[in-house]
Amino acid sequence: MAGTLACDKCHSLVYSRELDTISAEAKSLESQGKYLEAREQWMHALPLLPKSAKQAEWIEERAKQLNALAAKQQSQGETKWAKRVGPLGVLGAILLKGKTILLALFKLKFLLSFASFIAIYWALWGPIFGIGFAAMILIHELGHYIDVQRRGLPAEAPVFIPGLMAYVKWDAMGVPLDVRAEVSLAGPLAGFIAALACAGYFAYSGNQLFAALARAGAWLNVLNLIPVWAFDGGSATNALSKVERGIVLGCSAVLWLLTGEVVFFLVGAGFVYRLFTHDLPAAPSPKTTAYYIVVLALLAGVMWAMPGAGVGIPR
Ligand SMILES: [Zn+2]
Repeated sequence: MAGTLACDKCHSLVYSRELDTISAEAKSLESQGKYLEAREQWMHALPLLPKSAKQAEWIEERAKQLNALAAKQQSQGETKWAKRVGPLGVLGAILLKGKTILLALFKLKFLLSFASFIAIYWALWGPIFGIGFAAMILIHELGHYIDVQRRGLPAEAPVFIPGLMAYVKWDAMGVPLDVRAEVSLAGPLAGFIAALACAGYFAYSGNQLFAALARAGAWLNVLNLIPVWAFDGGSATNALSKVERGIVLGCSAVLWLLTGEVVFFLVGAGFVYRLFTHDLPAAPSPKTTAYYIVVLALLAGVMWAMPGAGVGIPR
């Protein structure tokens, strides 16, 4: 097992420079509308990737798209391909960034902070919980990271402050409030996916530790949605109007009553406070409101479905 891991690492490290050059070249050609040349470039990358790699799949798909684009271009002198590719382009960007993320993860600062982070939870609750909990926090941070990257905003690999928290640094200057809110909510959304995976494994195996992980992960992500300070909820709420804050407050109260989880009361209390702070945005953001509520409800669902109560830390 250790061997496979090491080889995978070598693979991405050895070829990463070549792949970087190829993808930069291809993307530059794409942006100039030279689709067939771009397709040629992408095909050069294929032999460097393992057959099973997501990137290989993506490149094959991309090659087809570029063919179609070139045909379209011939018939109508198309220039703005990005708008047409739409969601596929976004998905492609995320897959491409996968490689960037992998490389960033190897940065020493990240490794050190992640190792000490695991060590603390390991010492408190044992190895599987320690590694699992740290991995869930990592996935939360990657949610922010990927969302920042796919918007083309600069971000660094997550940094872990042992035992406390993790964060992703990114440049929010000049970014509209609702976009910042979406980046903030992407973390708890990714955290939900991680908690759901643990819950799924618990349902499959009956292993209580994964129920505890799912519950603890969901709990931590709801905690992060308290709309104050540097919590993700704090910055997301900056985009919400007074009425919208009231709506999320109401939803938090309902979720508190349904699940009996005090953390939803804390989210609600935060929103009571944010009803009276003088930081209302210029325009309301129904999209942010819906996103906020959906993420809260999804996390509540995981907590509701898992056995036990409280933060779910095994006793
Ligand atoms: Zn976060």
